[in-house]
This record gives sequence, C-alpha cells and structure tokens, in this order.
Amino acid sequence: MGAAKVRDLFKQAQEKAPCIVFIDEIDTIGKKRESGGIGGNDEREQTLNQLLTEMDGFDGKKGVVILAATNRPDSLDSALLRPGRFDRRIPVELPDLAGREAILKVHSKKIKVAPDIDYNAIARATAGASGAELANIINEAALRAVRCGHFSVTQADLEESVEVVIAGYQRKGAVISPREKEIVAYHEIGHALVAAMQSDSAPVHKITIIPRTSGALGYTMQVEEGERFLMSREEAFNKIATLTGGRAAEELIFGSYTSGASNDIEQATKLARSMVTRLGMSKAFDMMALETVSNQYLGGDASLTCSPETAAKIDQEVLELIRSAHEKAIAILKEHTEKLHALAHYLLEKETITGDEFMEILKK
Ligand code: ZN
Repeated sequence: MGAAKVRDLFKQAQEKAPCIVFIDEIDTIGKKRESGGIGGNDEREQTLNQLLTEMDGFDGKKGVVILAATNRPDSLDSALLRPGRFDRRIPVELPDLAGREAILKVHSKKIKVAPDIDYNAIARATAGASGAELANIINEAALRAVRCGHFSVTQADLEESVEVVIAGYQRKGAVISPREKEIVAYHEIGHALVAAMQSDSAPVHKITIIPRTSGALGYTMQVEEGERFLMSREEAFNKIATLTGGRAAEELIFGSYTSGASNDIEQATKLARSMVTRLGMSKAFDMMALETVSNQYLGGDASLTCSPETAAKIDQEVLELIRSAHEKAIAILKEHTEKLHALAHYLLEKETITGDEFMEILKK
C-alpha cells in the first residue's frame, strides 16, 4: 500500500498548504535500488518510485516544504538526492559548547532551577553529549533535587547528574576493602598527576573514589577550558600517557597491578590506533590512509584498507606508541613520587576532591 499512501500524503499536503511534510527515517523507503539483482523488494521500490514522481511534479511555490531525516545518508538512492528533490542537506552534528549550553537552558525551562546556575560549566563537562543526553542530565538533576529536598535544582544537583549519566549512580552501600581503596586512590591520582605534569592536557576537574553503579571504582574527570576542534600529535600522545597513568601508579607503588585499568587500556588503544591509521601521526606510515569509516552517523565502524602485512605493522606501531606513553607516565610519577603519596592519602581521606584542592596540594 506504500505507493497509495504516498499519493494520499501529497494530496493532503497540497490541500493543507502552506505546510511541512516531514518523513522520519527516510532510508526505510529510500534505500538504493538493486541494479539487476534477483528478487528485490517490489513493494518498497514502488513506494520509492511514487515518492520520486510526486516530488517531480511538485510546484515549489505552493508553500509545501518537504523534509526528511536519516542516520544513513550514504544508503539513500541517488535519485532521491537530485536537484528538485531532496537537494539540500543539513547535517545535524553533536552540539558544540555553545549548543550544549543553549540546549541545557531549553530543557531547564521546564523545571525550577536556582538563579545562579553556571550552564557554561555544565556544558564544558559534557563534551560529546547529544541533545537527548543533555535532556537526561537535566531530568536526573531534577530527580536528585527532589530526593534531597531542595526547593530548586542547584549547581551541585546538575554536577552530580552529569556524573550519573557518565558513570552511573553512587553505590553508597558498596563495601570495598581498605587495601582496594588504597589501590584505587593511587590509580586515580596517577591519572591526574600525569595529566597535570604534561602541557596541553585538560585541567583536572574532580577526582573521586566513590564506586559507581557502572562498575567504576573511581574516576578522574578532566574538563577542557573551551571548545577544541584540533588535536596535535603531542596532545594525542599525552592523552595516551594520561590514560596509562593509573596503571603506572599501581606498578610504581605496589610493584604489581590489577584489572582496574581495563577501560583505560581500551581507550588508549583506540586513540593510538586512530593516530596510526587515520590521523597520519606515525612515522612509519606518514600520511597514508589505512582505515575508512563507513558510516559516520551511526558510530562509524572503521575497516582496514590494507594488506595483512601492513595490518601487522600497524599493530606494531600502535604497541610502540602505547609503550612509550606508558614509559613516559612511569617517568613522570617516579619524579613526583612524594606528590603521588601526598595526594593519594588526601584522596583516601576525602574520597572526592576538586581540581582546585588537587592543584593546591600539587603546588605546595
Ligand atoms: Zn584508570
């Protein structure tokens, strides 16, 4: 019935003009047609053909605007995108700093907020968050305010809800042995200290060893001062060093290490790999593209475009990058072992410390 429905839709639109026709998930009917394949989907092709026909016969001056949305623009039939049909593309990217601030403000209109909220600070702490996630942060903050008996949502409610969305709720009842707590404290300070001792890394905002429902036993939050669009090779390398800082601290202080670095390892490897394969940041491969990202709107699966021999070399390059970053982290912590002890003990006692407290002890 698809074709008949499309006909009906356009008839209604003509009658109701001026109006906007919005088709969500256009890829379900607008997928590329098979060329000469067997079978195929007749029903869908007819619907698509009808849509194309209707759009062709459309008078642009009648006051009907046709909009469609998709996460997979690459899978659309090229006939759909020809001039006269869907000929303008408006990419909706993740919001930037100013965008996040504005989105937070829009959603907070629906709830009671304290007059002195610093939305910019929340926006800076949520780099990479989507509009839906920001809405969720506001919602969580409202829930928390109610639970705590506040009359309106405070800055602290918002900050806590950012952490809830990033790392899950606090597990207040969790019993962690003193020994494990000590390891976690050194691990987190290891990250923070390596970050602070390198130039060009985002300032430490908060360090905590209160376990979260996501399984994290602690984490270090770094917040950029402003928006960043470019990352230099040094910054990327320093970031890997910071990620290895937790494990480095464990090795240095306890002479052994735990499973606590699994997430760090994953992130460091991902970054190192993209440095080699996509960002042209390794000597061995210069500016050669080794990977292509298939769908940038849906998480972007990357696939290797090289021979098996090259793939093996890539692994070697990635390993070398991570290893030298790890060595750098250990060197930094060795040089500042006293600070590492002082900060870790302070964190053990307080469980959560701010970036300012961290810097104060560091500078003493
Ligand atoms: Zn870690």
